[in-house]
Amino acid sequence: MWSKGRSFDNAVVIGFQEGCLYRLKGKAEQAMVQSTVSPSKLWHQRLAHIHYKALPAVSKVVNGLPELKDGKEGVCRGCAKGKNVKNSFPGSDSRAKRILDIIHSDVCGQMSTTSLSGYVYYVIFIHDYSRKCWIYFLKAKDEVSSKFKEFKEMIENHSEKCIKTLRSDNGGEFTSNEFSEICKKAGIKRELTSPYNP
Ligand SMILES: [Zn+2]
Repeated sequence: MWSKGRSFDNAVVIGFQEGCLYRLKGKAEQAMVQSTVSPSKLWHQRLAHIHYKALPAVSKVVNGLPELKDGKEGVCRGCAKGKNVKNSFPGSDSRAKRILDIIHSDVCGQMSTTSLSGYVYYVIFIHDYSRKCWIYFLKAKDEVSSKFKEFKEMIENHSEKCIKTLRSDNGGEFTSNEFSEICKKAGIKRELTSPYNP
């Protein structure tokens, strides 16, 4: 192996082929390293993806750092993945104007610790008009339908009104046949959103 522009006579190290490897002749105490990462990129990554423009200043105040430029080549994968933010959802003006116009619901769990009575989930019903919440604890997700029925009967009896719209994500517990049947029977309009979205 010899450096660029030199010949065999100036070889840095000589190796003999043994199978697929080359055994180096003489003492080869230094590891041979070839860097394909620019120092700026390397230190940008080492310093928790610091802004490239801050690199020259850092290299001036920290001992042992090479002189770093603020230039960057291409897009940093880590920055693109970790620092990009999602646009917030546009505000909704579809607030309920009357009692029981809209009920929001979601299921939370599975909790890492089971309650003393064995509950690991809960389902929440939020009354849009008053923002009042009702929580029912569950041992399994398939109890959502029966708890909704219980909630529906209780609130409709007390308010003498009927639930018009139910907003939830499209998780399996809200899209099951049993749940859909309850809503269909009662003439409740469904508004489904994607899971894990506000
Ligand atoms: Zn980065």
